[in-house]
Amino acid sequence: MKYEMVIGLEIHVELGTKSKIFCSCSTQFGNKPNTNVCPVCLGMPGVLPVLNEKVAEYAVKAGLSLNCEIAKFSKLDRKNYFYPDLPKAYQVSQYDLPLCIGGYLDVSVGEETTRVGITRIHIEEDAGKLVHTQDGTLIDYNRCGVPLIEIVTEPDIRSAEQAVEFAKSVRNILLYAKVSDCKMQEGSMRFDVNLSVREQGAKQFGTRTEMKNLSSFKMLQKAIEYEYARQVKAVKNGERIIQQTRRWDETNNVSVVLRSKENAHDYRYFPEPDLLPVVLNDEVINSIKTSMPEMPKEKKQRYISQLSLSEYDAGVLTANSQLCEFYENILKEFNDAKTAANWVIVELMALINKSDTSIEEIKITASSMAQLLNFIKDGKISGKMAKDVLLEMFETGSSEDEIVKSKGLSQISDAGELEKIIDEILKNNQASVNDYHLGKKQAMGFLVGQVMRATKGAANPQSVNEILNKKLNN
Ligand SMILES: [Zn+2]
Repeated sequence: MKYEMVIGLEIHVELGTKSKIFCSCSTQFGNKPNTNVCPVCLGMPGVLPVLNEKVAEYAVKAGLSLNCEIAKFSKLDRKNYFYPDLPKAYQVSQYDLPLCIGGYLDVSVGEETTRVGITRIHIEEDAGKLVHTQDGTLIDYNRCGVPLIEIVTEPDIRSAEQAVEFAKSVRNILLYAKVSDCKMQEGSMRFDVNLSVREQGAKQFGTRTEMKNLSSFKMLQKAIEYEYARQVKAVKNGERIIQQTRRWDETNNVSVVLRSKENAHDYRYFPEPDLLPVVLNDEVINSIKTSMPEMPKEKKQRYISQLSLSEYDAGVLTANSQLCEFYENILKEFNDAKTAANWVIVELMALINKSDTSIEEIKITASSMAQLLNFIKDGKISGKMAKDVLLEMFETGSSEDEIVKSKGLSQISDAGELEKIIDEILKNNQASVNDYHLGKKQAMGFLVGQVMRATKGAANPQSVNEILNKKLNN
């Protein structure tokens, strides 16, 4: 019997607004616990929340970038549950009328492209954070009221690779749309996985479990693989899968039961009486639409048609918004798009991958890299020298200029200077000059070698060849 997995994802993303969703408290990450708080986000009696307009704007941007329809009327609801991270004992979310509906995203794994439907995107408030210590559990309410969007997909995903590709793609798109920093290590992007198994070809879904709060792509991949194997094993043993919420135990690489899964009615959703519905007209939606930056799909097409990049290069660059930004900043100071793409994708990416960092963490600035490429173009240094310089820039953060100077690397392209050296070489190697004139063309190679030796490899080989040719054939 062959089985397949059926996955739907719920992705929580913190929006990058400066203030919280219903009060003016800062959303800044990493501040002292319980300093970004006020009576509103602490849920004190008698306070009145007011929706931060930016939250609606950012959520609409997210919806548009994921091909959703934007609802002109949506409302906020209370989702009731009792837990210490939620001082009001309810979370303000959206239930039956979310802000964005019916989007999709195409994801490719290998040769296969699958369209993953997006059921809805709604806005809600984040909860506080529990900090477990030896002396007990502490609560930090700084995160309480930070705006979130929750992106809910259709159960269209069939493998861990597809799920990870989808998640990466959503992250990239939201970074382009500039609605979130999507920093997973800070909890700005978290995944819940709904997973069930069924016999391949079966029409009906199996019973699903939900795994909560996966906070990296690696965790997402591992948790899916584990949960699939666990369910298949259970089904093969004739056991019944129980609908439940599970937690991924990162230390032991297993999923463990958190609680039996609650249904929507357990939350006693009801309309939030203190907040007005979100009403948007065409004018507002269109003005947000026109303010959207270029998205990766369009950018890729433009790179191919305008910059003449290959489909592969354009794909690699646009698949990572930060890499793309870095590349475009190079082009502001260096005007050969293909060469720049090549250096970023081949040389720079190799350094990044080898050192296991990411583009946002590197010490090289785009401007510095542009100057390095200009050095090659102007014949100041060779391509080979530039690779060494790039490595040192990467490791030390020194500028291209400092390194070239300190290493005495500059290539001699100055014709006057080279001619002097070449005249000297010709004078001292009359035998080779005679050989050349007698038809032994390989003597030329010997003479080039002598020039390179005399300059310790710093002569621009192309210039040396040109000058030698001219002098020998005169
Ligand atoms: Zn507040």
